[in-house]
This record gives sequence, C-alpha cells and structure tokens, in this order.
Amino acid sequence: METLNKKYNIAPTKDGFFGNYGGQFLPEGLKQEFEHIYEEFLKYKDDAEFNEELDYLLKNYAGRPSPVYFARNLSAKYGSEIYLKREDLNHTGAHKINHSLGEALLAKKMGKKKLIAETGAGQHGVAIATAAALMGLECDIYMGEVDIEKEKPNVFRMKILGANIVSVKSGTRTLKEAVDEAFIAYSKEYETAMYAIGSAVGPHPFPMIIEHFQSVIGREARAQFMEQTGRLPDYVAACVGGGSNAIGLFSGFLEDTEVQIFGVEPLGKGTNLGQNAASMTYGKDGIIHGFKCRVLQDEQGNAANAYSIASGLDYPGVGPKHCYLNDIGRVKYDVISDEEAVNAFYDLSETEGIIPALESSHAVAYGIKLAKENKGKKILVNLSGRGDKDIQYVLENYPKF
Ligand SMILES: *Cc1c(COP(=O)(O)O)cnc(C)c1O
Repeated sequence: METLNKKYNIAPTKDGFFGNYGGQFLPEGLKQEFEHIYEEFLKYKDDAEFNEELDYLLKNYAGRPSPVYFARNLSAKYGSEIYLKREDLNHTGAHKINHSLGEALLAKKMGKKKLIAETGAGQHGVAIATAAALMGLECDIYMGEVDIEKEKPNVFRMKILGANIVSVKSGTRTLKEAVDEAFIAYSKEYETAMYAIGSAVGPHPFPMIIEHFQSVIGREARAQFMEQTGRLPDYVAACVGGGSNAIGLFSGFLEDTEVQIFGVEPLGKGTNLGQNAASMTYGKDGIIHGFKCRVLQDEQGNAANAYSIASGLDYPGVGPKHCYLNDIGRVKYDVISDEEAVNAFYDLSETEGIIPALESSHAVAYGIKLAKENKGKKILVNLSGRGDKDIQYVLENYPKF
C-alpha cells in the first residue's frame, strides 16, 4: 500500500492515530495481543501466498470484480450521469464479505480456531459466519435478545452456516451490550480466537485492516470508471455507518484532488439526539469501543443511542480515518433522512430494476441530489448492498401499494 504515505491517503501512526483520531484504548491484558495482530497483519498483507489465496476467493467465491454500471434511466431522469459500483452483487449481498474473508483468512494464518463477533441486524454476523464456514473456523456471534427476536431470517442463516449464537440478555439487549459481551468473551479467549470487527472502527489496527481489505472496491471502481468513460468521476459518494464501504471506495480516489468525495450519514428522523446516527455531523470528540472518533453523546458525555431506518448505519461512532478526512476537508460529510432514503429505494427499483439496501439507498439519494443540483456531472455511487432484507419493513412502514 505504497500510496498510504501520501498526504490525503495517510497510514496511521504507529500508535494508530489518523490526526487526532483512532488509537488504541484497551485493557492492559489485550495490548500485547493487538500488537501481535498488527505485526501479523503487516506481514501477511504483503505476503504473495496470502494475497493469492485472498484474490482467488474474492474472484471465485465472492464474485469480484463487481461491475460499475451506468444507470441510464436514473441518469436521464435527473440530468447527470450516475454510475453504480455494484457491491450488491457480491456473495451474501453486500460489501461486508470483502473484509470478512480477509479477517477470516488472517485469523486462520495466525493459527486461530475461532472468530468472535457481535451483530445488530445480523448482516455482519452472516458475513462472518459465511467466512468462518468457508475457512473451517468456529464462530461465536453475540447478539442482543431483542435483535434475535427481530431478525429471525438472519439468525437462521447464521445457524445454518454453523455459527453459535450467543444471546445477550443485559441492558437494552441490543447491539451495544452485544459489543460489550463479545469483547469480554474475546478478552478471555484471545489466545485461540480472533475478534472480527464489522467496520472500519475499533482499536488500532482494526480500522487499517478493514480499510485494506475493502480498498479493492476503490481500486476496481477507479479502473472501471476510467475504462468506461475515459476520465475520473466528478463526484464519488458512499453511505457511512462505521465507514467500511465508504473508506474502501474513497481510498481509490483520495489522491485525485479533482474528484469531490462525499460521505453520506443517516439523518434518520431529525437533528435531535436519538433521532439520527450522523456521528460526524452531530457528534463530538470522544472515545467509544477502544478508539477516539466523533461520537454522538449526551451532555454527560455518554455515548447516545443512534437511530437510522437502515440498521447497518445506526452506530454512534465513526471510523477514525473518516474523522481525519473531515478535519482536513478532503471528504465532505452530509446527511440524508429516512424519508429521502426510502424515496431513493423506490426510485432505483422502479427506474433500474435494482432494489438497494436501505443503507445504500442513502448514497443513492445523495447521488440523485447531486445530479439535480449540478447537471451534466459524472457521479459514482457505491451500492453497498442489496435490499431483499428490507422489503418487508419498507412495505409495512412506507406502503406504496
Ligand atoms: C453494514 C452495511 C453498511 C454500513 O457499514 P459501513 O461499515 O459503514 O460500510 C452499509 N451498507 C450495507 C449494505 C451494509 O450491510
């Protein structure tokens, strides 16, 4: 990753900081293990055999490269050229398989026997359970009791894939407690288990590991876009939960200063605390889950409950590199509401025959907004996942028929 030392696409410092953000706020007992993960990652990321194996799986198992598609009908409707990077076509239906395969292969090479992860709606859990099945690793997925009840299809998927679902019964019995309990379990089992983070967040070195495994999106997209249009896009946009699909796409364009880059956060139902999950836009500097970033917090400084219609986006923190890119002004972070996302969900389905995930619908909505406001531009939008999982919810809550 030789480009990482350039100004816009920096690697973290040795302590894991991107400017003011990131780092490693860990219990003493885990520091050495994280140092070990860092060293092993640095070794394997440039290891020919490792990369050959990963490339084989990305191509023949996950279905990469995912195409860049010129959305001609949507473009005609709004007066700009809108292109979609089709991560929705990956095995398991989203970009999450990219870093899950990478993390699982790294764990396997490190001699680990088990992956430990938490999940909210179950998307990350399914991707990790898939990679664990493939690599012959055990898999413990921590999930709040409330979420288990709500997300039955994904719970069944994980079980069929051989994962062990650990029901978390403390506190609100949702994602926050699942993260806490997964981490407690990991701190007891780290000698034989690897923690598999689900986004470009967490203590160093996880943000850089996830970015590395997701950067395939940006590399492919830049080359595909150049091949199809003979130039770079004017605008690039992706939705930001923790920030893995976004940093993956952005990493391909950070050095191209003529390309304007937009990270799209969920405005949910409004600007008040608890109504949205726009951590960059409405958060303050703080520490959450072992790293420093912009955090949605109450007046006492406690992390607030985040909300978005897209469960993959409702995290009260955001990846440290995004916070840095916001600080230096290289990426502009903006918001899209639940309602705008649902409109884009229907719009893309009707015009192009592509049903996007509600998460990705935020990026599509922003692409449409850019198209309307600036005619004749070339816009590349990351379609991070497909919307099958959201159909029932949308029809029940935003009925159109
Ligand atoms: C999980 C998820 C996201 C949000 O995660 P990031 O780490 O911010 O990319 C976005 N889109 C889809 C389809 C997801 O499943």
